[in-house]
Amino acid sequence: MTAPHAPRDGAGAPAPAADLRSRHRAVLPDWLTLLYERPIELTHGEGRHVWDADGNRYLDFFGGILTTMTAHALPEVTKAVADQAGRILHTSTLYLSRPMVELAERIAALSGIPDARVFFTTSGTEANDTALLLATAYRGSNQILAMRNSYHGRSFSTVGITGNASWSPTGLSPLQTLYVHGGVRGRGPYAGLSDAAYIDACVADLEDMLGQTAGVAALIAEPVQGVGGFTSPPDGLYAAFREVLDRHGILWISDEVQTGWGRTGDHFWGWQAHAGNGPPDLLTFAKGIGNGMSVGGVVARAEVMNCLGANSVSTFGGSPVTMAAALANLDHLLAHDLQGNARRVGGPLVKRLRAAGAELGIVREVRGRGLMIGVELVAPDTGQPSPRAANLVLEAARERGLLIGKGGLAGAALRIAPPLSLTAEEAAQGAEILTESLRAAERGLS
Ligand code: PLP
Repeated sequence: MTAPHAPRDGAGAPAPAADLRSRHRAVLPDWLTLLYERPIELTHGEGRHVWDADGNRYLDFFGGILTTMTAHALPEVTKAVADQAGRILHTSTLYLSRPMVELAERIAALSGIPDARVFFTTSGTEANDTALLLATAYRGSNQILAMRNSYHGRSFSTVGITGNASWSPTGLSPLQTLYVHGGVRGRGPYAGLSDAAYIDACVADLEDMLGQTAGVAALIAEPVQGVGGFTSPPDGLYAAFREVLDRHGILWISDEVQTGWGRTGDHFWGWQAHAGNGPPDLLTFAKGIGNGMSVGGVVARAEVMNCLGANSVSTFGGSPVTMAAALANLDHLLAHDLQGNARRVGGPLVKRLRAAGAELGIVREVRGRGLMIGVELVAPDTGQPSPRAANLVLEAARERGLLIGKGGLAGAALRIAPPLSLTAEEAAQGAEILTESLRAAERGLS
């Protein structure tokens, strides 16, 4: 096993641009999130590893930002991009496009949605924006149900419905949003309940709310809250919600931007953990399907999708180069059963991290499904969520050659979402580095 924090053999890494950080500060928005106090510049990747401009190698436990779904520099994807780019880069949706039709066929079949139609976008935000547009148009209402602490993107409509004020810089919204309990297990008034009682309480809350409103268009929900820190409701929650929604004619939008394509191990889509009454009415996707290329989209049954009139095109949505990348990526994912790999490698990784966490005062909880694992951190002296602890762990892990993400309601959750091809050996190596980093952070806090 090669040391994680070592230059790649023979790789002539470019000299670091010493002033890149100040140039970045001078010309990019202050609110653009940079993960580290002293950010690194990544120059290339291979498999589950990336290298920075100083030639340091890192094990990528965040897969870009859940964007590198299969592996960095996957040869099939690189070839598909180069082949397509060599033919034609862009044709627009005004003409027939073979890669676009082929990918739509594949996704429609995989979605589980009957009579499915697919509309491609260039991001998760735009996918959710389109889903909200469709739902409000179909139902003739601008009322939306969203989960507390949810995140759906950064456009006016998606930021406007987020269930966490810190992710909505203006607090303004074109939609009228009602917030539903259920996204974050272990918080709020129902925290101490059993799973079944928790579901009953959330359903009663939803029923009560709907008894006082008329004409809600849709419920939008992440099956596992992503930016919220990888928190899952009990299985079956959305199936129970579905029964209520159906009675009111309200559509269910499953935001699968983080949870799709087998990331959660047990299921191909996050909604399948709640499959009591079948698939959602609309499903949105993005992030990993392009393996880093900008591919997003919405799936809906024809009746809902076609409620928009003509002239609703996306100039770059479905661009042939991105479609070719996504097709090659999807082929690889399915041929190598990376969903199964996420389950097989993710389960033991959670166990390892739980065992390590049990010895440490800063770890409150390790939770996860497949390769979507959250570690909630607290200050050992107060037991309160500690964003400082998260920052210390992030820095300590990077020093040791491991990249992870963070998030959560208080910014105190570590997020682990490596490429789905992660090997058992790499998982063990990452867990070891993370454990050392947690210990170092705990020392730093005392
Ligand atoms: N939906 C969810 C669940 C997300 O996590 C994100 C991004 O983190 C989005 C939507 C927005 O996607 P994008 O950043 O591609 O616009």
